[in-house]
Amino acid sequence: MSLDHPLRRLLQPDWVVPGTLAELPLAALLERPSKPIRALVLDVDRTLLPRRQTLVPESMRLWLQAASQQVPIHLLSNNPSRLRIGAVAALFNLPFTNAAGKPRRSALRRVLAELELPPSQVALIGDRLFTDVMAGNRLGLFTVLVKPIDPNGQPCQRDRLQKLELRLARMLGTNLGANLGTNLGTNLGTKLT
Ligand SMILES: [Mg+2]
Repeated sequence: MSLDHPLRRLLQPDWVVPGTLAELPLAALLERPSKPIRALVLDVDRTLLPRRQTLVPESMRLWLQAASQQVPIHLLSNNPSRLRIGAVAALFNLPFTNAAGKPRRSALRRVLAELELPPSQVALIGDRLFTDVMAGNRLGLFTVLVKPIDPNGQPCQRDRLQKLELRLARMLGTNLGANLGTNLGTNLGTKLT
């Protein structure tokens, strides 16, 4: 049984990608006919690279380099370390915010003001429902949930945190499908066209 909880809407990603950020087809966002996405706000830990590591996996490095040439990108991390998040941002010459406090809105509001874009034209991409997706939904961004990345640049297979969050969200009535894989087709069809 699922409940129609007030959190349901805040936990509902607009798009659930069945892989990591490196497998996200950027063109699907940038060429969305109804509302093309014109900037990206990216989570860092476990979205770009495994937590506590400083090496960005090769697949992610290539994705990010290509993406940063096509669209403005801001790195928005809850990690308190300015040194760590700044070092990752410097690799790609990107603006960043550490200690962002997602799902609180203040840091994300500042990013939107800098971008000078309406929230609906900005995608927030991350691996956490209760921080990334919730923050983005609170301000009306296009929210994208990706699989967390493992040290080899592959989708993390034993990710307890995301699994727990998905389970909780389903209990609150969020529609996330039986598994992430089935959702890509559905959401591509309904959200990206
Ligand atoms: Mg993360």
